Amino acid sequence: MSRTDHRNPNVSGLRPRSKLVHGGIRRSQFDETCEALYQTSGFVYGSAEEAENAFANDGSRHVYSRFRNPTSAMFEDRLAEYEGAEWAYATSSGMAAVHGALMSGLRTGDRVVAPRSLFISCYWIVKELCSRFGIESVFVDGTDLAEWEEALSKPTKAVFLETPSNPGLEVVDLEAVCKLAHAAGAVVVADNAFATPVLQRPFEFGADVVIYSATKHIDGQGRCLGGVILAKDRKYGSDVIHPFLRHTGPTISPFNSWLLLKGMETLELRVHAQSAAALQVAEFLESHPKVAQVLYPLLPSHPQYDLVRKQMTGGGNMLSVFLKGGKTEAFNALNGLRMVMISNNLGDSKSLITHPATTTHSKLTDEEKVAARIEPGLLRLSVGLEDPQDIIEDLDRALAEA
Ligand SMILES: *Cc1c(COP(=O)(O)O)cnc(C)c1O
Repeated sequence: MSRTDHRNPNVSGLRPRSKLVHGGIRRSQFDETCEALYQTSGFVYGSAEEAENAFANDGSRHVYSRFRNPTSAMFEDRLAEYEGAEWAYATSSGMAAVHGALMSGLRTGDRVVAPRSLFISCYWIVKELCSRFGIESVFVDGTDLAEWEEALSKPTKAVFLETPSNPGLEVVDLEAVCKLAHAAGAVVVADNAFATPVLQRPFEFGADVVIYSATKHIDGQGRCLGGVILAKDRKYGSDVIHPFLRHTGPTISPFNSWLLLKGMETLELRVHAQSAAALQVAEFLESHPKVAQVLYPLLPSHPQYDLVRKQMTGGGNMLSVFLKGGKTEAFNALNGLRMVMISNNLGDSKSLITHPATTTHSKLTDEEKVAARIEPGLLRLSVGLEDPQDIIEDLDRALAEA
């Protein structure tokens, strides 16, 4: 990092954790320490010629915050620097990122392949929205490479996947699926929300576009919604994705970008602490007599443990807990908790727990619930930043009452 340009530091030689603190920063003429919040919709010009020039030379300066905003650009550049992406755009929510990343590249007659185990709104976009526009969607068992191979034996425009998936924690073999997808002509869009940018780097396994719900770990403190689309290739981002976003306007607010930018500074510390605590909690729950099964990527009992070890550097903070009982026992356990909060959000510094069958996934049909293992005794736990022993004691007490 060069001392000579404190307003516009070059962070390319820094280690990843340092990039999270200094990446993307552009200081103003006031030389502020903390990143400035440019809470503005538009920008002014010193002359008519300057305005003419700004529109003639796209991207040469800021013209309107739907296209680009200096605070949002700091957030986008910081994450792109960390992730190894050439292009990034921040959106108002994770779903705006999923929608923009997918629909910007699709037309009537195209074909999309995705695993059945997806976050409910991602599933809606691939199944319902795509079909409204005459785009064929094909679903596979994301853990079965033979099904991927079969589905990708025909020309395909896009593959959309989550790994690990929400809430099934199914893991997709990124390297193998990206190879099959590219052979079929498809762009691979990976939703990396559960793994976080800290624990899994989809670009290194061949993904073309990575999206985040920044609402989750990137903010990580329950303050705002946000999303990001990152493209490995600048040209794909600026030629295909950017026109779609610029003209449809799923833009993030500068204030939310500022929160997320500051959230990035502690992202590695938080995710590593939460991931270590989640492993402890998973081991405790796995040996609990009222628990039938715990799904956690870094437990040797996870069906894809070897694959997890190959493509993730930690297990993350999310657990699926299948109780031996059904809905009654699951509700009793939730109602017996004192510290862990009942909430459908995740990735927060506060430990949060939800009953997917009656909340996040209540709109699925019975068959879809069976296919996605959204069982009456399933609880989804997001491990926070509290002392892991307090989380374990709270769960132990609540399970005793279940
Ligand atoms: C939460 C979530 C989303 C949606 O993000 P929002 O910020 O709530 O719009 C998309 N994908 C996954 C895997 C998620 O967990």
